[in-house]
Amino acid sequence: MIRQIIDNCLPFNQPCVFCAAGNTAHGICRACLADLSRLPLEICPRCAHASPFGQLCGRCQRHPPAFDQLHAALRYSYPLDAVIQAFKYGKRLELAASLSFLLAELAPAATLQPDLVVPVPLARTRLLERGFNQSHELARAFAGRINAPLDHTLCERIRNTPPQARLNRRQRQENVRHSFSVNHRLDGLCVAIVDDVATSGATLEALSLALKKQGAKRVEAWVLARVFYSKT
Ligand SMILES: [Zn+2]
Ligand SMILES: [Zn+2]
Repeated sequence: MIRQIIDNCLPFNQPCVFCAAGNTAHGICRACLADLSRLPLEICPRCAHASPFGQLCGRCQRHPPAFDQLHAALRYSYPLDAVIQAFKYGKRLELAASLSFLLAELAPAATLQPDLVVPVPLARTRLLERGFNQSHELARAFAGRINAPLDHTLCERIRNTPPQARLNRRQRQENVRHSFSVNHRLDGLCVAIVDDVATSGATLEALSLALKKQGAKRVEAWVLARVFYSKT
């Protein structure tokens, strides 16, 4: 609660995290905010990949994902990618507030009020290495925005999966399968899961599946940035 108040009361004289211009609100100047890459206009209503006329994409028709809907605030591209990398791997925890602001401002509003907001958990060893879970920081801002309870202890990452960057979609799904445990029943509940970046969606799918096995009625995923491949 106190952290949410601090997040919402960031001073208005922060340098911009993208261009270092001074006196910005939430650490992002207007020009950089306007320049950030938005999602394509026509996207699949289920997985948010580019899809002609905004129709359900072929992949979702053939293999519906375990989550009911994925919402993304922005496209994963420069300079947002560099700032997310600095945040996660450069231990630049001070970037959390600005990135949380982008998620909270630009992600679509929840049409269905979730009963719980849940960050994608990190494995314990990775959490110790990094010192914080970036998804937790984002989830807290999102939960505050939609006035829903945050539960960061519901899920645990029980397997520390190898990095996924070099794997294709099928390999990523295999890599994260059975990675999550959910510690109590969620019968009839609507759950919102939050992460920083969605690439193949495999991690979000694995967590959604674990939540649905515990009885969740609906799982929606919110991410700060969505990766788009040039082919799609
Ligand atoms: Zn700027
Ligand atoms: Zn789709």
